[in-house]
Amino acid sequence: MAHLGRIRLFVRTIRTFMVNLKRHLPSQYESLGTLVLRYDKKSDGAFAVKPTESAKKLVELGDYSFLLLERFKDDVAVTGMASYKHLVRLFSEQCIVETDDNGVKAVIKANKDVSSSSLQNPSDPDAGYSGHKGKGYQMQVMETWSRDKSQPNLITHVKVESADTSDTQAVLPAITDAAERGLAPAELLADSLYGSDDNIEQAKEQGVTVISPAMGTESGTISLADFRFSESDELISCPEGKNPIRIKTGKQGGRIVHFDRDVCDQCPLKSECPVRRVKRSATIRYDAKALRLARRRRAEKTETFKDAYRFRAGIEATMSDLDRITGLKKLRVRGMPQVRLAATLKAAGLNIHRATVFRKRCTKPEKGRKHAENDSAGLVGAVKEHFLLLSGELRTFLEQFSPDGSRLWRMYHQQLNA
Ligand code: SF4
Repeated sequence: MAHLGRIRLFVRTIRTFMVNLKRHLPSQYESLGTLVLRYDKKSDGAFAVKPTESAKKLVELGDYSFLLLERFKDDVAVTGMASYKHLVRLFSEQCIVETDDNGVKAVIKANKDVSSSSLQNPSDPDAGYSGHKGKGYQMQVMETWSRDKSQPNLITHVKVESADTSDTQAVLPAITDAAERGLAPAELLADSLYGSDDNIEQAKEQGVTVISPAMGTESGTISLADFRFSESDELISCPEGKNPIRIKTGKQGGRIVHFDRDVCDQCPLKSECPVRRVKRSATIRYDAKALRLARRRRAEKTETFKDAYRFRAGIEATMSDLDRITGLKKLRVRGMPQVRLAATLKAAGLNIHRATVFRKRCTKPEKGRKHAENDSAGLVGAVKEHFLLLSGELRTFLEQFSPDGSRLWRMYHQQLNA
């Protein structure tokens, strides 16, 4: 999918509308008279402008879009056209309508006010935009892994979504989807974007431990986790062993803990301690979420966490395989349904490839390794053509490599360009 700036996006959308209008409703097209001329040409070069003139050009394009929309808004035959609907969407996402002494006019929105879910290209209205990932689609991928490589790493969940969709929302649907197929993981390794406190707590309710670093960093060397708490998470003493003089419940819930300010002023840790001087006491506020976050950050520094989490990086190899072996990053289809189907088939193909390599490796530990690679490459090609016919046999085949023995999964996203 071509990357279009705002000017080219307007031009392409208007031109697509014009082409379809001319083809399907020639009388309405003819009624536009000379208005159609500039947008009838195929080259976008006619709209190339200096950066200093781009704002003026955008205004011109916004005005022209508004004119077209107003002209045909009561023509049912035109408003039913997909290209007209794209123009309506583009205009509503990129412009606002204002009224002044001269009447009604279109005003171009500032860049920051245009949503990342806005139309990116009229040829693929389902594609979105992410400042980090770019334009197009992304695929959430979850796979199994085993420490001792006793099982192949198999993809157990894929979800294709617009590139503007936040990764934060991906974890729970992935777990639910896998659980519905009897494949719920016991542990899930994921990067920090997936590891919000809400995700971790809700995954825990489903029996899944999400291992992920917490977002953000601690401001000082002493944190809430360095205070001592009872089993019911009531604060007992500070890192210097001093007891609170008063504990209150805050208006929003949580606890407000007061220490003796005179004691804190003499404390050697006062410059690093997170308590705040308020009037005659030094206080610290916390709730269950803040405490969990502080404990996670402290746990991240332990060797236990580092040893468990280092296996997350293994999914980068899966992303690389999806790109290198199946060509996932450059799909030759457009639209969410087609992109979703193509990406899912490629993930299934990679599973077959891996399962084949693994089985050959088990039966012919050394000599068979190279042949296994070649055999599986051919198999992936066959899957592209005959996946539906083979689905029954495929399921039986993959069941030999059920992840139940491992129960360890990891998750990441892959950027797609249709
Ligand atoms: S500053 Fe106060 S609360 Fe903090 S460690 Fe020292 S005595 Fe304890």
